[in-house]
Amino acid sequence: MITANQYFRERFGHKMYKASISLNVTCPNRDGSKGVGGCVFCSDGGSGEFAAKCGDTISDQIAGTIDQIRDKAGKDAGYIAYFQNFTNTYCDPSYLEKSLEEASGCEGIEAVSIATRPDCLGNEILEVLCRQAERMPLFVELGLQTSNDDTAALINRCYETKEYVKAVSDLKSIGANVITHIIFGLPGETKEMMMETVKLCADSGSDGYKFTCLYVLENTALEKLFMNNEVEILEMEEYFDIVEDAIKLLPEDAVIHRFTGDGPKKILIAPSWTMNKRQVINYINRRFCL
Ligand code: SF4
Repeated sequence: MITANQYFRERFGHKMYKASISLNVTCPNRDGSKGVGGCVFCSDGGSGEFAAKCGDTISDQIAGTIDQIRDKAGKDAGYIAYFQNFTNTYCDPSYLEKSLEEASGCEGIEAVSIATRPDCLGNEILEVLCRQAERMPLFVELGLQTSNDDTAALINRCYETKEYVKAVSDLKSIGANVITHIIFGLPGETKEMMMETVKLCADSGSDGYKFTCLYVLENTALEKLFMNNEVEILEMEEYFDIVEDAIKLLPEDAVIHRFTGDGPKKILIAPSWTMNKRQVINYINRRFCL
């Protein structure tokens, strides 16, 4: 296992920070083309609560974020333009290309990362991404969450796992680095099912991973399930036992970009242990000898 920090230092020669960008996009499981309401755990912000405001130009969004973190990052740091909220390839290919070109031209940007869904990577979009991967390193983050299609239906993901397998292969063929998002603790999932997800990702060739425990946010469909006692939330030790076993299934060069997520405090209902970020980071550092 390699941490994201180690990986970025080796690849870019220094620390890398993310400058988040919001495009004017939505998701096919929100706008009715495949479903409505979005994934049951997803808030109205589309997993981009920490991203910049999409009313501003991309250059302004990037400059604003870099200004905020420049002192902390230091003068040697590099930046990744991070297209974070909703499904960033669910749009007109020319809009995506223009946005990528603008982001790539911003001062300090050395790479681009795009969060999306495997079912939103048609040929024209792949061509745009291929041209971007030729300009600078490209990371594509795929929200898989689980390989189990029954769980996927329960969480309203609205695409089949086989689409993820194809997407990883397509993205790798154009030179993109693939990062897969996986949630542990989804409703009805046993530890064996979670390990099946990890194995499928490793077999598909995912380069990196973002793990998170399932967390419940206000005004989501998951909140209702949680209030009806239909969802159990993992305790901290229990969750990191799963992460440790998951890492054992991955190749040695797999990059762990995130050991767990932390939902926005203002709307976080559970688990409460994720609220104490400092304590969780210390625990991760100790447990995984980072
Ligand atoms: S695809 Fe991503 S952004 Fe869209 S509803 Fe699901 S989790 Fe949220």
